[in-house]
Amino acid sequence: MGGIGALMAFVVVGCVGVMAQRYVAKRSARKVWLERPGCSASSPVQVSRFDDIDSFVRAQRCTCGGRCVLRSEGGTSEGAIAVRVVRGECDRCEDEMSFYFELSEVQH
Ligand SMILES: [Zn+2]
Repeated sequence: MGGIGALMAFVVVGCVGVMAQRYVAKRSARKVWLERPGCSASSPVQVSRFDDIDSFVRAQRCTCGGRCVLRSEGGTSEGAIAVRVVRGECDRCEDEMSFYFELSEVQH
């Protein structure tokens, strides 16, 4: 009876296939995410007020559809540009999210 063996092999191959598909989907979702403005240090969002940062972050959604919960804020620099980094995490899948803002016009 090779039927059960073949069925088992089919199930195993199916599981591996689904896992690989999820892995690729997650990676491409991440890639799309990083190409969005404000989601990587090389493409910060230009803002002129700190309020703009709050409203931008509030409008963001995780790739799973969750909301961003703010965790920390800090500064970094990308070349000569001072960039403000806001870190948060998804309230559903706890994926870390970072947003980058260029604050060149903010009055200090
Ligand atoms: Zn999420």
